[in-house]
Amino acid sequence: MSYKNFSIETDADGIALVTWDMPDKSMNVFTVEVMDELDRIIDQVVADSAVKGVVITSGKSSFSGGADLSMIKGSFDLLKEAEAADPATAVHKLFDATGRMTWLFRKLETCGKPWVSAINGTCMGGAFEMSLACHGRVASNAKSVKIALPEVKVGIFPGAGGTQRVPRLANAQDALQMMTTGSSLTGARAKAMNLVHQVVEPDQLIPAAKQMIKDGLKPVQPWDEKGFKAPGGGIWTPASAQLWPAAPAILRRETAGNYPGALAILKCVYEGLQVPFETGLRIEQRYFTHILQTTEAFSMIRSLFISMQELGKGARRPAGVPKSEFKKVAVVGAGFMGASIAYVTAAAGIPVVLIDRDQEAADKGKAHSEGLVTGAIGKGRMSKEDGETLLSLITPTPDYASLADADLVIEAVFEDRTVKKEVTEKIEAVLREDAILASNTSTLPITGLAKNSKRPNQFIGIHFFSPVDKMMLVEVILGKETGDKALATALDYVAAIKKTPIVVNDTRGFYVNRCVFRYMAEAYDMLIEGVPAAMIENAAKMAGMPVGPLALNDEVAVDLSYKIFKASIADLGPQSVDPRHMELVTKLVEGEGRLGRKAGKGFYDYPPKPARKKLWPGLKDLYPQIKPEDVDVKVLKERLLATIALEAARTMEEGIVTDPREADVGSILGFGFAPYTGGTLSYIDGMGVKTFVALCEKLATKYGDHFQPTPLLKDMAAKGETFYTRFAPETKKAA
Ligand code: NAD
Repeated sequence: MSYKNFSIETDADGIALVTWDMPDKSMNVFTVEVMDELDRIIDQVVADSAVKGVVITSGKSSFSGGADLSMIKGSFDLLKEAEAADPATAVHKLFDATGRMTWLFRKLETCGKPWVSAINGTCMGGAFEMSLACHGRVASNAKSVKIALPEVKVGIFPGAGGTQRVPRLANAQDALQMMTTGSSLTGARAKAMNLVHQVVEPDQLIPAAKQMIKDGLKPVQPWDEKGFKAPGGGIWTPASAQLWPAAPAILRRETAGNYPGALAILKCVYEGLQVPFETGLRIEQRYFTHILQTTEAFSMIRSLFISMQELGKGARRPAGVPKSEFKKVAVVGAGFMGASIAYVTAAAGIPVVLIDRDQEAADKGKAHSEGLVTGAIGKGRMSKEDGETLLSLITPTPDYASLADADLVIEAVFEDRTVKKEVTEKIEAVLREDAILASNTSTLPITGLAKNSKRPNQFIGIHFFSPVDKMMLVEVILGKETGDKALATALDYVAAIKKTPIVVNDTRGFYVNRCVFRYMAEAYDMLIEGVPAAMIENAAKMAGMPVGPLALNDEVAVDLSYKIFKASIADLGPQSVDPRHMELVTKLVEGEGRLGRKAGKGFYDYPPKPARKKLWPGLKDLYPQIKPEDVDVKVLKERLLATIALEAARTMEEGIVTDPREADVGSILGFGFAPYTGGTLSYIDGMGVKTFVALCEKLATKYGDHFQPTPLLKDMAAKGETFYTRFAPETKKAA
């Protein structure tokens, strides 16, 4: 029998080596076709008396990324169709569909012949769940091997037996930790947790897996043996009495109750360990069916998987422009940002010249990369050779002539129009005709900066976020005259450095910073009202934000807010800034020298490590304080999320952001907007535009006109539209 995605080779010992290698994909994933084939393979090996056992591995460098999330997204469509056809049976249909993998893997582990999974590379989600159904697991000790059940990160959970098998192999605490965080394990850690049997050199992987079968591996899982007890004895033991009462509280501390998928893991494990294995699988299947119907699962899969992948693959790249090759990139300005941009460029294997005013400043920029490389080697994340190669790609110099043959130049000098003008002229004096010039400005409109250029259609914004090596988002900013070649080059560059781009039209603050300023401004309002600062910060975290607005303000620098206010007043007039906000920031910066974290004091105090930052007690004296019991935390959470979402809606209305995928992905990657919502616009769509408009109107009556819903939102509410229906990319194309 032949298969499209698998090949089978049976050796003289009767061991069938099943190699999973999907012809049209760079990584193996579970699709309906793969499940069908695996089903047939199980039948085939059972029927073939010459086969004594099976080793399953991958023909690619990774083992598998798990279930194809497009398939899971398909289950949302299935539910919709089923609901339209017959609402009474719709959920049953979903229940049956979600059980496919579960019962396929159960069939594998009860087929009567031993299976061993030979994990040669990254093994995630459904693929690790399949491995757990195998009677033996051997992992290679290669650095590239990462084992994880990461489903919780996209709003779902391991629903193909993972929540039942992991806690029957590992202790419940480790099992919960692994699944509720979705974190990756090395082979060694997986072995220590009892999740794999052996960890071997890569070239010993298949022989070791075969040897397990030759040594008489029993084709029966521990939980199918009589008298089986889960590690630690199950739920009704003194140790469990320590763990279980605390577990929901710990999860709540970590997730603030925002992630139904994470809570479902707890329920599956707790309930599943008290019943026979197959009943446990059914419990898991039931919770999985429930979770698939949540707004969180729908929105997170859409934004964090599908949209992110589409944007990464160049959804916004203009067609017809040949793919750019980067033989050399130049970064001008080797300061805080420029030095880091040079690092990520070299890390992608692209030669980069790093230019500053003198050799010393340029060298200082390269020293930043040297520090990062030394750190990575020290932590075992980079080999010495890779580190040396990376550093050899960065050439620090004050000589502009060295950028003459660059394909792309990224300017990251002081945020000063005069300096930027002078630098642009110096660059263009030597730059190749067809090369692209980009600015990393964070506040100056690109159209204005492009006026300094002789070829504004080849001028674009490439806006990085700090810290550049960690932040996955890059905003690509189009000036009025920016052409397709510049856009394509910028997107190709962002893809080359493996970050996710969003394309934004020119405006003050672009997209991300406009949203972030709203978040901080709402916190200023709350402080001024007398809301205790700790409640503001905690409410933000309970709303799902990774960093409170005051802590974030300290990170970006309070004096930067002050400078931006002053610039807005100078450019747009005094009405452009709330005078109470100006007064607050002036008090901090000029009155107290509290410039933010860099100064060791801002909204927080930063004592020397290991002591942790603490809110500055003086904040209490700035405004009369409301008693904590008189503050409604739910309203604080609503205000913080709604003000950001409203700003995102405004950017759509103004045509600054044109694709809801970009607003959503940009908000999560750019400033961690409550990921369980799927991003700023999914937050609105998820509750319904009508509900959001009503919420804004309610907030506007009490907290100010900045909450007034915009005409677009009112129109969408009246028509029953969502952002994804009104601004769907297909709709736009058709129009
Ligand atoms: P920085 O002050 O750390 O670095 C600026 C560098 O430019 C300095 O090394 C300086 O010597 C160099 N420079 C100045 N004039 C020059 C000239 N004529 N020729 C060559 N080099 C010159 O500033 P930064 O924080 O790295 O910011 C740089 C740019 O990045 C700004 O436009 C800023 O708005 C933008 N940006 C900053 C951040 C951030 O978090 N700091 C984030 C995104 C974008």
